[in-house]
Amino acid sequence: MAPRRPRAPASVPALARPASGPDMSQLRAAAAKGLRRSGGRAAPQQQQQQPARQSRKGASLRGGAPAPPPAPHLFSDPAEIEALRGNLLAWYDRCKRDLPWRTLATTELDADRRAYAVWVSEIMLQQTQVATVIDYYNRWMQKWPTLHALAQASLEEVNELWAGLGYYSRGKRLQEAARKVVSEMAGRMPRTAEDLQKLLPGVGRYTAGAIASISYGQATGVVDGNVIRVLCRLRCIGADSSSPPVIDRLWDMANTLVDRSRPGDFNQALMELGATVCVPKAPLCGECPVKQHCRARRRVEKELAFASQKLFGKPDPVPDVEDCGVGGCPLCPPATEPWDSSLGVTNFPRKAAKKQPRVVKTATCVLERRGCHGAPEYLIVQRPNSGLLAGLWEFPSLLLAQGLQEEKQQEALADHLQAWMGWPVAAGDLQLIGEVVHIFSHIHQTYVVYSLPLDGDVTLDPASSPSRWVTEEEFHASAVSTAMKKVLKAREKQRGKESSSVMGSKRKRGAKSQRAGSTSPGTQLSLRAFLRAPTAP
Ligand code: SF4
Repeated sequence: MAPRRPRAPASVPALARPASGPDMSQLRAAAAKGLRRSGGRAAPQQQQQQPARQSRKGASLRGGAPAPPPAPHLFSDPAEIEALRGNLLAWYDRCKRDLPWRTLATTELDADRRAYAVWVSEIMLQQTQVATVIDYYNRWMQKWPTLHALAQASLEEVNELWAGLGYYSRGKRLQEAARKVVSEMAGRMPRTAEDLQKLLPGVGRYTAGAIASISYGQATGVVDGNVIRVLCRLRCIGADSSSPPVIDRLWDMANTLVDRSRPGDFNQALMELGATVCVPKAPLCGECPVKQHCRARRRVEKELAFASQKLFGKPDPVPDVEDCGVGGCPLCPPATEPWDSSLGVTNFPRKAAKKQPRVVKTATCVLERRGCHGAPEYLIVQRPNSGLLAGLWEFPSLLLAQGLQEEKQQEALADHLQAWMGWPVAAGDLQLIGEVVHIFSHIHQTYVVYSLPLDGDVTLDPASSPSRWVTEEEFHASAVSTAMKKVLKAREKQRGKESSSVMGSKRKRGAKSQRAGSTSPGTQLSLRAFLRAPTAP
């Protein structure tokens, strides 16, 4: 039986209330910024030169009161809102994916445990696909089923389990917050979205809304990437969806729409719709449970109808359709990038072009030795506890200055290793393996990979960063980033090439010997040669 969830007071605006928040000039500024369509292409030049449209009456501030957005971008009809909720929830009940955190959220009776289970899933799902998260989530909940268990874990253990999920600070912050709940709040999670956001480090507006609605039944909306896409399409919002004024409007809309009796399910349904039906590139509009409420789809249908009328020689019934019938609308696509018929509903959402990632080059060295039974072992070192990839383990690495020439890179790495190990390292001893590229969210990282075989153990200055030798298996079980796993893979690939070329030259030598009918001094006879019948003298 599903547990009864306490209902927290709803902090939700009344339906169709005049929206508060940014004024129209802010919205216009956002709309005027350079935008890009999600997966779209540039608008034709001719259309970009459309004259500016007249300002909408009443769009400007009067006496400081913010004007509501134009009606076509709102949900203002209570009957429509009810119908949309009903359709979406019925679809969710039929089609929702079976996910471990959903099971916990409906079967766990303890509110703190339920909130913790949702919280972990929400943090893991930020920037990561559901399919990837499932295994991590199950392992995490098995290891730390409660906040108390997580609070007692070490950062090293957290990093080890998180390794491969990316955005490593998320795991660290989750654990810090769990410690705070245990030590400062007697293990009791805050009970509203507002308090969750205010009191827990790493919990933003979205995560707070998701925990509060799913775990406690608080009627509060959520806005994530999937919700942004669905809402922008439902209401033809073509202004920059990453700009604060538009984001505020979307929050207003999410809070207006959320179902009062099943807020958690409603929020999950909206996100599920964005993840499985209203997807970025090829949305399945025909299967969409809310298609009758979708203005983007209506617009496409209208255009198709006009096109077929034209085909039969009827006059064009739409002279020059304004996007929403309101001139200078701050939520419509900007005049510089109007609706593009070839894109259909994927005209929405749009956001400002992303900043180019920073380009960074790092020299890294796979230091290796022969361990037990001749298997290779690698020396790894721990990164500092703050900054990028905090606390993770990596091969000794050196950030390279921009534009440094290849031989200078090698010398710089040799100097770095020498200073670190206290052993003489010549640049010529480093064997170049190749380059490995890894894209972090904001960094385009190229690792120039070298290897260096070592004969004995390396005694490092205890004052330097912690380091240890690991087997390949231990390496993969350690808190290492995906980028470092790629580096090791590059080294192993090269080792494979080396051994196949050694085998190749051995085979060639063997064949030569057989052709000569004799063995070279010191060369072992092959089995075939050994068994070969002696030739007559
Ligand atoms: Fe998205 Fe299409 Fe549904 Fe509109 S009809 S919400 S565009 S899937």
